[in-house]
Amino acid sequence: MSATVLAYRVLENASLQGRNTFGIQAHAQRLIEVRDSSALPAVFRAMQQPASALVLGGGSNLLFAGDPADTVIAVGSSRIEIIADDGMRAIVRADAGAGWHDLVMWTLQHELSGLENLALIPGTVGAAPIQNIGAYGVEVRDCIHAVEAFERTTFQWRRIDRDACGFSYRDSLFKREPDRYIVTAVEFVLDRGRRSNLEYAGIADELSQMGIDRPSVMQVAEAVIRLRRRKLPDPAVIGNAGSFFKNPIVSNAQADALQLEHAAIPMFRGSSEDNRKLSAAWLIDACGWKGQREGDAGVSEKHALVLVNHGGATGAQVLELARRIAASVQSRFGVALEPEPRIIGAVW
Ligand SMILES: Cc1cc2nc3c(=O)[nH]c(=O)nc-3n(C[C@H](O)[C@H](O)[C@H](O)COP(=O)(O)OP(=O)(O)OC[C@H]3O[C@@H](n4cnc5c(N)ncnc54)[C@H](O)[C@@H]3O)c2cc1C
Repeated sequence: MSATVLAYRVLENASLQGRNTFGIQAHAQRLIEVRDSSALPAVFRAMQQPASALVLGGGSNLLFAGDPADTVIAVGSSRIEIIADDGMRAIVRADAGAGWHDLVMWTLQHELSGLENLALIPGTVGAAPIQNIGAYGVEVRDCIHAVEAFERTTFQWRRIDRDACGFSYRDSLFKREPDRYIVTAVEFVLDRGRRSNLEYAGIADELSQMGIDRPSVMQVAEAVIRLRRRKLPDPAVIGNAGSFFKNPIVSNAQADALQLEHAAIPMFRGSSEDNRKLSAAWLIDACGWKGQREGDAGVSEKHALVLVNHGGATGAQVLELARRIAASVQSRFGVALEPEPRIIGAVW
């Protein structure tokens, strides 16, 4: 049953299977598709339990381990525009419902640099600040100017400057307080003529295989796209949500002890001088999980960090597998793994 009301549409008992990249079956008692974010105050006034409503973008960083408790809201507006430009730098404003990869390509076509390493990450613009998406040595916070949001607890519109967003590795103020803000647009500060970040392993090699030694920003994005297509399973072919676990950050003392026991363990710079980051993929692979399968829930053969749905897995089965993986890493290395996607309908 559906009803059309001004700038939003309400669908009762809506299937969410086509709205999450794991392809897991779940239902929303009510799904509200908001075409224009200016309708959000009216939507929240009309709802009986606004606090628990789940905001859904492309569903590429979620695991439905059960049905969402109440209403699901999807924000659809997708305009992208340049709102300031001094010839050296431009501010690009994109609505929350715009596709992330579409935005990246739009900025590169307008000869603006900054987002090229983040090409082909699935999902929407509105979700990008939530976990401060990152790839190939770049995090989105590097280019965010401000985040525009509707604060559902106060019914106020907010424009939150980058420094107030509380960004850190796969984290932000928005992720820590999931029931407070709905991101309605993001402003990015992008350069004309800045050199791309090619430090991350693989990009420079890929470019040289492409026969390019002075790459344009578009060519850097092409290299990233080629790498990602080779390394990551495509959700259109096999359901997944990208990396299922964050790379764990451990104290220097624990890192030193781990290195003594496991000479080959890879380590990276952490969030401060006092800690280091480990590769969750390496730890999971070392525990023998890569390519394993329990029913239709499995670990990708391409990448140990990616859990997959071979077709008929339930979210609870994927979650159970994730818990078993984390328990084996904890028991072998004494390192706790934390999931990267938001788990709906269960507690980690
Ligand atoms: C194959 C694959 C590769 C991936 N690679 C990467 C990668 O390289 N780097 C990376 O960081 N991530 C990666 N991801 C994860 C995912 O693509 C990103 O986290 C993306 O930003 C999620 O966007 P989404 O619109 O699908 O969000 P959803 O999954 O719909 O939502 C994710 C979270 O954001 C919240 N949310 C969504 N929209 C809004 C909004 N407008 N306002 C407030 N809250 C909102 C949701 O409530 C939820 O908590 C990958 C996923 C896949 C499937």
